[in-house]
Amino acid sequence: MSEYVFAPPAVSAVPVAGGGLFPVRRIYCVGRNYAAHAREMGADPTREPPFFFAKPADAVLTGGADLPYPPQTKNLHHEMELVVGIGTGGADIPVAEALGHVWGYAAGLDMTRRDLQNAAKKEGKPWEMGKGFDLSAPIGTMIPAARFPDPSRGRVALTVNGQIRQQGDLADLIWSIAETVAFLSGLVRLAPGDLIFTGTPEGVGPVVRGDLLEGVVEGVGTVRTRIA
Ligand code: MN
Repeated sequence: MSEYVFAPPAVSAVPVAGGGLFPVRRIYCVGRNYAAHAREMGADPTREPPFFFAKPADAVLTGGADLPYPPQTKNLHHEMELVVGIGTGGADIPVAEALGHVWGYAAGLDMTRRDLQNAAKKEGKPWEMGKGFDLSAPIGTMIPAARFPDPSRGRVALTVNGQIRQQGDLADLIWSIAETVAFLSGLVRLAPGDLIFTGTPEGVGPVVRGDLLEGVVEGVGTVRTRIA
């Protein structure tokens, strides 16, 4: 007989190409990791240390399911990103070893209630409710790292209703995938199941009910959701 006073929550998971599920422990996100996006957000894209925020593990939305337009916003934005799945944990991971801790990669969307985020920024308050709302992390099928051995290049793009909205390349990341994993592991101990959204290229913008979002990371895969 379990000692839980009610049934524990289900484990969030991301489908893996070819079968199986990647269980999600935590979701970390990198802010402003492409210079052009930093500029469009009114920031100076100097190579200051990367900064991170988090979403709840159960914010993942998989299988191309619809995303219900979330409450308390009039400015829901898309941010198309490469997502890293950690397979081997660790703290203070050296940059040269960082990619060895990656289990796989996926295409994902860091959906953002931009109005709430901007209000929080202005008042020096946490971004949490702008970023970590329910189902705020649509994500595609994960591929094992061996199938994407060089995450230093690859087109990252998003269309909305077939119109191109975001387009960038992993080559333009301010902090590389290895540097990002290494830096984050100096702030928190990483563990199997951690996801890292690695930042978005320029072109973020609003979506409305009915919009179909289709994103791709070249060499990794796609992510798709409709705003319902
Ligand atoms: Mn983002």
